[in-house]
Amino acid sequence: MTGEYRICPRCGRSSREVPFIGPLCRDCYVEVYGVARLPEKVVFTYCQYCGRYKYQGGWNEPTGSVEDTLVNFLHMYLTKKLRPTEHIEEAWIREIRLERPFTGPGIYTARVVVEGESNGVIAREEKLVRVQVNAAVCPYCTNRITKRGYNAVIQVRSSSGRLDKGLRERIDSFLAGMAPSLADAIIGVEEEKEGFDLLVSDPSVARMIASKMRSAFLAKTIETFKLVGRNPDGSRKGRLTISVRVPDIKPGDLLVIGDKHYFYLARSRGGAIMINLDTGREEHFDSDHLWGMGFKEYPGGVELRRYMLLSRGPSTTVFLDAETGYERVIEVPSDTVRVYVSDFREGREYKVFLAGGRVYVVGEANEVSE
Ligand SMILES: [Zn+2]
Ligand SMILES: [Zn+2]
Repeated sequence: MTGEYRICPRCGRSSREVPFIGPLCRDCYVEVYGVARLPEKVVFTYCQYCGRYKYQGGWNEPTGSVEDTLVNFLHMYLTKKLRPTEHIEEAWIREIRLERPFTGPGIYTARVVVEGESNGVIAREEKLVRVQVNAAVCPYCTNRITKRGYNAVIQVRSSSGRLDKGLRERIDSFLAGMAPSLADAIIGVEEEKEGFDLLVSDPSVARMIASKMRSAFLAKTIETFKLVGRNPDGSRKGRLTISVRVPDIKPGDLLVIGDKHYFYLARSRGGAIMINLDTGREEHFDSDHLWGMGFKEYPGGVELRRYMLLSRGPSTTVFLDAETGYERVIEVPSDTVRVYVSDFREGREYKVFLAGGRVYVVGEANEVSE
């Protein structure tokens, strides 16, 4: 301390009592100049269907409920707009609260706490900002509602001619799990006799969706381009159509692919793992391979048996046949047992498939099959 001090010309207190900002004590400085200037009025427009909000000429993803999105928006917007007063070096928004609960479109008052720093002294000020909240319908939702603005159609069909309920559910849950950037481009779904059509706003997104379905379901895709009229300038206007044929097969099915027999063991990245029942080896199939070879379901289907594992040694494995009341003992060389479950334990029951002198353990007996 040097003994030098200043006196606030407005309230008369000295710099020994209160910190100073510029020529005034902190309290007087905030009263006279404030910490920062903010816009007095802000307009917030959100989509009443999806919650996106307008900002910088576009529609942005919501960040939670409309109220959360509004507060986050105010934080971002006001931070950008605030202008520190003369002697404040840096200012920021500490807190934003709406003065009444959010109930939809209308006029709100936001209580905004602004803080700023000058020479290590922190000043704080509360400001009121009028917020006008408007509800609207964003272009994504407009397209969705009116089914206008689609430039591609994905025709989803099954290989068997009709899309059964189980397959439809698997496709629906796959579509529901897609990234929003893809899902948002689907502006409508039309039911058809043999399947359904997805109306997609953007042809390149349609191609991405089709390609994902291709690897997820081993589907075959065919693109065609149909003329649908002329543009105002006279040029020909086309629409991309992608036919997606989904094979009506699932893990657990016995198939004839080419002229060989396979057991469809599991889905894998980009395809399926099948057991070649002639060689006992696993083979990986992708869409091209499957459709190139030609496939059909094994006539008569496949029957899985229920075996309980009794013991498993290096040379022999012993099961009890659960379907005959655990009376029949099945003893087989261990090297003929192929295990495709993660947990193969004595005392538990498994679904097994018998072929070519081998025992394929393909699932837990209590597992619900797809
Ligand atoms: Zn003062
Ligand atoms: Zn919307």
